[in-house]
Amino acid sequence: MAEIHGEGIGQGVAQGPVALMSAPLEAPTDAPSTRTPDEEKQAVAAAVSATAAELNARGERAGGSAQDVLEAQAMMAEDPTLLEQVHERIDQGATAEYAVHVAFAAFAEQLKALGGYLGERAADLADVAQRVIAHLRGVQAPGVPDPGHPFVLVAADLAPADTALLDLDQVLAVVTTDGGPTSHTAILAREKGIVAVVGTGEASFTEGETVIVDAANDAVVTDPTDEQLAEAAERAAARAAAAAAPVTTGALADGTAVPLLANLGSPDGAAEALELGAEGVGLFRTEFLFLSSDEAPSVESQKESYRRLLEAFAGKKVVVRVLDAGADKPLPFLTDVEEENPALGRRGIRALQHREQILRDQLTALAQADAETDADLWVMAPMVATVDETEYFTSLAKELGLKTTGVMVEVPSSALLAEEILRHADFASIGTNDLVQYTMAADRLLGSVAHLQSPWHPAALRLIKMVADGGAANGKPVGVCGEAAADPLLAVVLAGLGVQTLSMSPSALADVRAELARHTLEDARRIAQAALAASNADSAKSAARAAA
Ligand code: PEP
Ligand code: MG
Repeated sequence: MAEIHGEGIGQGVAQGPVALMSAPLEAPTDAPSTRTPDEEKQAVAAAVSATAAELNARGERAGGSAQDVLEAQAMMAEDPTLLEQVHERIDQGATAEYAVHVAFAAFAEQLKALGGYLGERAADLADVAQRVIAHLRGVQAPGVPDPGHPFVLVAADLAPADTALLDLDQVLAVVTTDGGPTSHTAILAREKGIVAVVGTGEASFTEGETVIVDAANDAVVTDPTDEQLAEAAERAAARAAAAAAPVTTGALADGTAVPLLANLGSPDGAAEALELGAEGVGLFRTEFLFLSSDEAPSVESQKESYRRLLEAFAGKKVVVRVLDAGADKPLPFLTDVEEENPALGRRGIRALQHREQILRDQLTALAQADAETDADLWVMAPMVATVDETEYFTSLAKELGLKTTGVMVEVPSSALLAEEILRHADFASIGTNDLVQYTMAADRLLGSVAHLQSPWHPAALRLIKMVADGGAANGKPVGVCGEAAADPLLAVVLAGLGVQTLSMSPSALADVRAELARHTLEDARRIAQAALAASNADSAKSAARAAA
């Protein structure tokens, strides 16, 4: 038995045989062919039709939009124009592999030059070329493996195209050697409730070996004992039972309410969030609606999205964040791409203040949607760093007809100034992902500094406490909407620090709800105190565990 450490995503545990994501193939060389052109062409024909058949079969298993993508890729493999170009190169003396490599690459370049939707297909074409070449070589195609039975996927990291096609009936868990807790893989795992441990470093795994992926304990167990396998199975069953338990509102064991809200990026997620017991929305990330827009969205088009969201949550609280453009979420129409250091540049409220008409349009659309619906709409600004920015945003939002206006606390300066800031804001919502990034000076997207990105760090916890105290001093509510709220024990700590609402990916609601119900407010305060007194993230977590 050996334990490999990483960052667990969520609280799950799963076990199964490892299937390794295969590495990209080495590019073929232009060594002259030793076969006849006809032999090379026959090899291409066989490889192309095997690739198309495999892609179609995968598509059929995946269904939905993944099936469309895979069938389109199968058609690319058999595209007659492309095949002609492959044949031309073979006639000039190239091997089948090299001809496929060069012809597909040239075609991908043409697509890229067209840009837009067709440009994006260039990556799909590159993937098809790799598959055809793998067939020609008689090796496994790169990308997500398909061993024909459920498996634990082990990869360096997953590209968005890989994750979009993951078959959740087959993938028992995901382990990545690279990538931090805010990597694409981690976000997908959280969203879909996939058991995952990310950033295990240089650990090596063997194809087919049985492992336990223990996200709750940030570990992957290799060569597990029978007892460990049985214990993991028991925990997985207990979690499944908790998830199936009747949905109640969020509360501590003594009845203290801690409303549990959902983080959403589109109105499409509303039904699922409600089903999982979201008591409202604590963070609606509006920039996700416009990530690929070249122009600022019109008032009308925005209003439609907001109306759909507010209708879905009639009678409930919905906190909408105005556009948070920049750094990890660039918006073509708002972000200055020339900045050397975008995380410290004109992002969030700074970008909006600079382009005030965009902010005015968004607030107008929100006010109009609010007037037509019955949800309790709150609006907030991202990346607020000063009292001036707070006053600027809240007064503009009020002027444009919004009732409840607040700020996100994501920059240490605004935590330090929370008491003053909350004199001017109706509420504050702490974005722990950025608050930790800026407090620890550790890029949230960078695996190499992932060890510094824990919201358990007492430096972050102390800042959170300052915000909760600033709220209490002004009689204003303070919530948390960063990923910290999705960690069940940390959620208890946050409640103990005085945070009143918790907002998270809907898939985390059941675990957080169950953990809160195990502790009274008095317990939560004691557990929070233990974590606050620690000197690093690991000891804060252990101290909280011991106190709980
Ligand atoms: C945060 O920073 O914690 C947050 C909730 O905002 P985002 O993750 O969208 O930057
Ligand atoms: Mg943020």
